[in-house]
Amino acid sequence: MKSKSMRFRWISNLKKWVVNNLCCVVRKKNIKRQRSNDLESSVEDKSCEVTACSAIDLSTITSADLPSSRHADLETEMSRLKLDDLNIVTPLGVGGFGRVILVQENCYSNETYALKILNKQHIVAIGEQARVLNERDIMVELRSDFIVRLHKTFKDDEHLYMLMEPCLGGELFTLLSEGKYLSHTAAKFYTACVAEAFSFMHSKGIVHRDLKPENVLLDSKGYAKLIDFGIAKKVIPGNKTQTLCGTPNYVAPEILLRKGHDTSADIWSLGVLVFAMLSGRALFADKQDNDMNTCNNILKGLNGFFFPIEIEDIAEHFIRKLCRKNPVKRLTAQEIPKHGWFNGFQWEDLRSRTMEPPFIPTVESSVDTRNFDCEGFPEEADYPHVDDAISWDPDF
Ligand code: ATP
Ligand code: MG
Repeated sequence: MKSKSMRFRWISNLKKWVVNNLCCVVRKKNIKRQRSNDLESSVEDKSCEVTACSAIDLSTITSADLPSSRHADLETEMSRLKLDDLNIVTPLGVGGFGRVILVQENCYSNETYALKILNKQHIVAIGEQARVLNERDIMVELRSDFIVRLHKTFKDDEHLYMLMEPCLGGELFTLLSEGKYLSHTAAKFYTACVAEAFSFMHSKGIVHRDLKPENVLLDSKGYAKLIDFGIAKKVIPGNKTQTLCGTPNYVAPEILLRKGHDTSADIWSLGVLVFAMLSGRALFADKQDNDMNTCNNILKGLNGFFFPIEIEDIAEHFIRKLCRKNPVKRLTAQEIPKHGWFNGFQWEDLRSRTMEPPFIPTVESSVDTRNFDCEGFPEEADYPHVDDAISWDPDF
């Protein structure tokens, strides 16, 4: 357990860092704008050109790109790694439950990680202890190249920490914001990555329940990985779970109706994601952003719905097979590769990561975070003291 002075050093380092780096924000914004322009032109002509990679820069290699022998080294390294061995590099993102920062290990290898920091007082104050423990338990089980890996957890008196594989290519969301859409080739690639993630999770009875472009990150090579298992749930085969959760627009009708849902709810959300990638539009979203109308659209389903011209018939057929109102009639993750939309798609090349991704993010080193918008990264709030804040987290 860290001493109080160590803890203060950690927090004051973080505060110092935030102040020192505010000036970097403008530079990053410009780079991001440039990147978004570059991307826009590649999206517009739908040619899916791949940026040429002239030389292999070892500093760009992240843990996701490592061969399995290196993964074994990493496991050993991991067992001796302590929180104090990590230096703060830069923030990556803020979620409803914690902040994620890029850190670099300074003792053995200079390896970088994404560290999710959760304030225990905050978690207790909002009564989300079970969610945090659940996220940890589920991530421990998930070992797939298409899911962000949790390497290790730490804790001290005030925080819980989840040390994860970093994905420096940014969120899939940035490829789709402002109505941008992707070529069929690109959309197929990201759909296949998510289908592989689901195939693995669903075989273990785990349902993600929050698929959306913000929860799919690109690694530095351009491969997509699923993140954010806060509301994921393990469902015993043949059973269903009832909780109303998810993100409006992506949520399946049976979740809204509280009929009970299982892994097929993720397949519905994947259909919505495929539609967004191919058209730049949100499938069921109400034009006025009224959640109630969005829910009604979801409950109506796709009967009588006209697909936009840019979505080919075979892709429309695929989306309709994912977004069937009856969950039992949807494709399963394992059936997705057999659908006609994937004719000619080399699944083995994807699985072995030898397929060329449609878009290679600009990531010049393992500490290059230009693909993340760190603007307004908040200082941690002061949370009221809660007495039982240190008794519920034995597994961290
Ligand atoms: P939410 O409110 O979405 O449930 P959360 O508190 O559970 O949020 P995450 O969604 O896991 O947090 O992470 C917040 C943000 O941090 C993400 O949107 C992403 O931008 C960034 N992030 C998370 N994990 C990683 C990672 N492994 N590599 C790079 N960035 C990451
Ligand atoms: Mg999230």
